[in-house]
Amino acid sequence: MSAQTWLECIRCGRKYPLDDIIYHCESCDGLLDVEHDIDQLRSRSGDEWKALFTERSCTSKWPYQSGVWAKREWVAPTIDVQNIVSLGEGYTPLLKVQNLTGMPHLWIKQCGISHTGSFKDLGMTVLVSHVKQLISLGRKVRAVACASTGDTSAALAAYAAAAGIPAIILLPRDKVSIAQLAQPIAHGAHVLALDTDFDGCMKIVQEVTADRMIYLANSMNPLRIEGQKTVGIEIVQQLGWEVPDWIVIPAGNLGNISALGRGLSMMKELGLIDRLPRLVAAQSANANPLYRSYLTGFEDYRPVTARATLASAIQIGAPVSYERAVKVLRRFNGIVEQATEDELADAGALADRAGLYACPQTGVALTALTKLVARGIITQRDRVVVISTAHGLKFTDSKVRYHEQRLADVVPRHVNRPLKIPADIRTVQEEIARRLE
Ligand SMILES: *Cc1c(COP(=O)(O)O)cnc(C)c1O
Ligand SMILES: [Zn+2]
Repeated sequence: MSAQTWLECIRCGRKYPLDDIIYHCESCDGLLDVEHDIDQLRSRSGDEWKALFTERSCTSKWPYQSGVWAKREWVAPTIDVQNIVSLGEGYTPLLKVQNLTGMPHLWIKQCGISHTGSFKDLGMTVLVSHVKQLISLGRKVRAVACASTGDTSAALAAYAAAAGIPAIILLPRDKVSIAQLAQPIAHGAHVLALDTDFDGCMKIVQEVTADRMIYLANSMNPLRIEGQKTVGIEIVQQLGWEVPDWIVIPAGNLGNISALGRGLSMMKELGLIDRLPRLVAAQSANANPLYRSYLTGFEDYRPVTARATLASAIQIGAPVSYERAVKVLRRFNGIVEQATEDELADAGALADRAGLYACPQTGVALTALTKLVARGIITQRDRVVVISTAHGLKFTDSKVRYHEQRLADVVPRHVNRPLKIPADIRTVQEEIARRLE
């Protein structure tokens, strides 16, 4: 196959054309990755790639105004510019935080400061553009569909609406936040709230998309991973092309950690960096199949039934990208940690006190960081990036309940409650004086 990009089985290496509508290898049932002709990409040196990416980061020229499409040659070089569906994803802030842990070199990658409020935009722009291209080539795709813990459906619904393609959303009923439910509804998606959990929705969407005219938008589909992999590239770019010592990331279905690893690996392969950071995957203790497997050195892996967790975006018991993630964790000398409800809620609240507005998944990642620092595995002086995956505003309900002390399994240590008092200047002044004492 002489193409620039193709699909390749992660187990047996069998290749398929990129335009095949296929999510598993026909020989061995393995997942597929998008692979690129690396020799062709070597026509530019590492320094030339850096210069090109830097130059594009200063432009508003379509499609390079997007942090994903600015890396177009590495992501999806065969998608025509007129088929690109972009809502300005990527280029999210890498925020230095000095008042949270006391660590001098801690950054938060604010992926939630994005069009639909989570990193899912990075992958969805690529997937929906790919579908638009398929349609323009005369392929019959009637709709795009996904199962979701909330953020995938928000992103899919927005990008599909922008492209004029119908979206079908399968949600676990009463298990996504109200903000996350509002998003696909507002974008006009077909929202089906099923009486099951995410893993149950994932099974059904795979059956629904066995009909190739309904295209699968979950991260089992590697087009998503190609967009999401730009996050690692962008982090290094924002650090002046210096590799951090650690990147900590919350992990559920395990697509995003796989993507992070792919982007960084590609940078090393193409000579932009000469070493890799270590990675930490952070799971909720109520949905921790990867953590359990890690404790056995990835020898033993069993899906679990995920229990309810405030980190609802990672409430997943049978992660689709398990194999991809284990490859990445081995390559990056990775660690898996977990956070209880109490730990993740407090970590999020503490981050809010430092001026962030952390989603519960970010609370999981911050807990993992704190634990590894306490154990001396991450040192105070290490350069660490924590990936914040969604905007805290999507999780208003759980934040309110935290401060009202109404969360099960959480003893909140940073409660702040509004005080109800009469509209009387003396009372107000007395209360202010008492508080500022
Ligand atoms: C999807 C999501 C994750 C988990 O990413 P995976 O690829 O499923 O591991 C983490 N945090 C948030 C906010 C998400 O939406
Ligand atoms: Zn195969």
